Amino acid sequence: MRRLLLSLLCLFPALPAEPVDWIWSARYVVTMDLGRRVIENGALALEGDRIVAVGARAEIDRRYQPSQRLDRPEALILPGLINAHTHAPMSLFRGIADDLRLEEWLEKYIFPAEAKNVSPEFVRWGTRLACLEMLLSGTTTYADMYYFEDVIAEATREAGMRGVLGETIIGFPVPDAKTPADALRFTERFIQRFRNDPLIVPAVAPHALYTNSQETLRACRALANRYQVPLLTHVAETKPRRDEALAKFKRSPVAALDSWGILQGRTLVAHAVWVDDADLRILKTRDTGIAHCPSSNMKLASGVAPVVKMLALGLNTGLGTDGPAGSNNDFNLLEEMDLAAKLQKVSTGDPRALPAPQALEMATIRGARALGLDKQIGSLEAGKRADLITLRLDQPNALPLYNLYSQIVYALKASDVRDVMVNGRLLVRDRQPLTLNATQVLAKAQEFGLKVRASLGR
Ligand SMILES: [Zn+2]
Repeated sequence: MRRLLLSLLCLFPALPAEPVDWIWSARYVVTMDLGRRVIENGALALEGDRIVAVGARAEIDRRYQPSQRLDRPEALILPGLINAHTHAPMSLFRGIADDLRLEEWLEKYIFPAEAKNVSPEFVRWGTRLACLEMLLSGTTTYADMYYFEDVIAEATREAGMRGVLGETIIGFPVPDAKTPADALRFTERFIQRFRNDPLIVPAVAPHALYTNSQETLRACRALANRYQVPLLTHVAETKPRRDEALAKFKRSPVAALDSWGILQGRTLVAHAVWVDDADLRILKTRDTGIAHCPSSNMKLASGVAPVVKMLALGLNTGLGTDGPAGSNNDFNLLEEMDLAAKLQKVSTGDPRALPAPQALEMATIRGARALGLDKQIGSLEAGKRADLITLRLDQPNALPLYNLYSQIVYALKASDVRDVMVNGRLLVRDRQPLTLNATQVLAKAQEFGLKVRASLGR
């Protein structure tokens, strides 16, 4: 009998624990996977840039032997948040002109301030400032359209963040391109340089229908499709823009873009405020991603995007902060979730509209889908990239706890973000940024603020 037991033990030895780089554990793991699993006393095993396993802490501890651990018994773990639309270097114009109409704000303030100030160094420090703020508020991926996008990509990569980045292509001279043709040539070189980067997804980013010719927009689409990269653009942000398209093209902005073939391929449109049912059907047919930007739409009184309808149709609708120069003025996705939910309630007169779990989906898995990155990010699942954050649950605004989704969307703040990892690399530990020199970034922000002020004769 004893001999038999011994031979059985030789046949089935206890499996040795598999070595991994990290185990992260927390009071709750909110996966945002297909079954929307929430694991109490949960953990993740991480190896290289990937999630190896997600499950109960006891099980993960038994199966894996980590080189490092991060245990947060008073916190939750979430997928990193996704900012589907912004203009990162505009952080250095934060609050330059507020409480104005979009057209006046752009033409009288933003375009002239950009003409006088935007340089590679401005963009580099503006991106670092934006990345610092985004990381400390739990954002791990962002979509951007600005100028000197190669410098933005360098600063993003150096901060360790993930970015879907496109050089703005616009029908008038800008700091780094005299013509749209120049910007298109720049974009092609940019795509060639970054297309195999683990963190950067290069994109083609025509500013909008109203700032580009049909010819330029068609060339943008062709370039994006040639390299299989996404096209990012603004669409139907305000009523005047919709009316203008109706007068000029006898079609809505979405219908005009579609009739020229611009939506045929991976596309993400920002805003989509003034869209009707026919426009939504087009966006559905084309599988177009949408970046809903509630702060920006409210602040510029642009209107209210029909997000409830978009979600009911299954459109890939994520959340964006938009630029921080007057249309928001920060990069806080926890705030955007809260505002997105409340804006739909107040505009539909129905408190059941856009409930908390859906708002969190928009900032995670739906945002990933809008960017075409849902195979890689947006939920915590084995095989996906290790993009994750912890949020503390031991502060006055987090207690007591009855419903996790409500707590995240309506009560937790950016300051509750404690740790941030992107692509398996720890970027923030216990609110300390590890890849950005915060003291230096903040000093530079002050310095650029003075230069911008002087350039405007203030
Ligand atoms: Zn924008």
